[in-house]
Amino acid sequence: MSSNPSVDFLQACLEHNFWTWSAQSKVNPIPVTKAKGVYFWDVDGKRYLDLNSMVMCVNIGHGDERVVEAIVEQARQLPFAGPQMATQARGELCKKLTEIVPPGLSKFLFTLGGADANENAIKLARGYTGRFKILTRYRSYHGATYGAISLTGDPRRVAWEPTTMPGVVHFLDPYRYRSTFHRLNPDITEDEFCRDYLNHLEEIIQYERPETIAAILIETVTGTNGIIVPPDGYLQGVREICDRYGIVMICDEVMSGFGRTGEWFAVDHWKVVPDIMTMAKGLTSAYAPLGAVAMKPEIANAFNNKVYEGGLTFNGHPISLAAAIATIRVMQEDHLVERAKQMGQVMADMLAELAQRHPSIGEVRSIGLFGAIELVKNRKSKIPMAPFNQNSPEMIALRKYLLDQGVFLYTHWHTVLLVPPLIITEEQLAEGFEVIDRALIITDAAVE
Ligand code: PLP
Repeated sequence: MSSNPSVDFLQACLEHNFWTWSAQSKVNPIPVTKAKGVYFWDVDGKRYLDLNSMVMCVNIGHGDERVVEAIVEQARQLPFAGPQMATQARGELCKKLTEIVPPGLSKFLFTLGGADANENAIKLARGYTGRFKILTRYRSYHGATYGAISLTGDPRRVAWEPTTMPGVVHFLDPYRYRSTFHRLNPDITEDEFCRDYLNHLEEIIQYERPETIAAILIETVTGTNGIIVPPDGYLQGVREICDRYGIVMICDEVMSGFGRTGEWFAVDHWKVVPDIMTMAKGLTSAYAPLGAVAMKPEIANAFNNKVYEGGLTFNGHPISLAAAIATIRVMQEDHLVERAKQMGQVMADMLAELAQRHPSIGEVRSIGLFGAIELVKNRKSKIPMAPFNQNSPEMIALRKYLLDQGVFLYTHWHTVLLVPPLIITEEQLAEGFEVIDRALIITDAAVE
């Protein structure tokens, strides 16, 4: 609610706000005024079903009073203390995180969000190993700051070339639907598929020379680039490769963490413990900005006698720390991780059912409440519904229809992502799927 109701906030935003990730003349923002549960409302009272958790963040749902109260309480008690201070909130969140992160990750560096968590992760890995190269995958997004956009494999990185950070080498991710290695032989077993992609990674390590490689950084389950779930054995294989060559394994759980996949963290599905794990988004369910880097003590100990050159004024802001503590408590009290697993099965069934009826669906994928519908013009040739890294009239029309019908979700090129708050009910999911079902008539009509 505006403090001055006479300000036409939409007009003021359009006149004066500089929009990120947008051509300034093309923006058409939703004038949002309030949010509760799995819904938000615009200034005209139109209700949207939020199947995106507002940038894949609001895992506990909007407007949970328990988190709001914790923020207010912290603001009254101690609204700010510098990053060099020990505070009740800092100590409490560290303890709380040790209850939920994979065993052995026991030191935490707090950041403002996901990108700077990844920036710090690679700085730590470089400082720990004394090596400089970082291996990341092509189908990845790791954030928009200088280092993080350089780590990003998808074409969002290209706008900043050739001045991206040196020392980043990209490799291919195990994406079965469009597997580069298996176009002519799609019927290989899961084991063979997994082994081929691990061999590919190891070959790149040999070409680059292992002694130059500080870290392998991967999204445990790829997020914006299509919810790509690794085959069983892949993460364990990456772990073994890292151990063999003394490379730091970093898992980016900015999007896949905090119950999203039906476990606290996606790595838990395969019982793999990375050396460093980055998180943000669900950490506070976006009630306040916060990211974190969890690390093994040996990484932290490398800086016992040398200064860690890094840190921002607002790192570990008490209000954000309080929001995180309350968010984790809500997740524990309401059993939201178990709920995500349960509702994830419901969503998987709905996706499978949808795929049977719509010829424009090439593949559906999901793990927990982290799902994708990949749209194609032809199931056999797998021609995508939008060309690589581009829009298409069909995808534009699909998005418009969904928004007109009050369903908010994210599409990336030719893929629709389903990332609802973990509190969503079966009825609310069905409400969304009914609209998606109708919307897919648009893409079905483009099937060749
Ligand atoms: N890593 C992943 C996997 C992400 O999805 C994102 C954001 O979408 C980031 C990092 C960057 O996080 P932030 O936007 O908080 O800097």
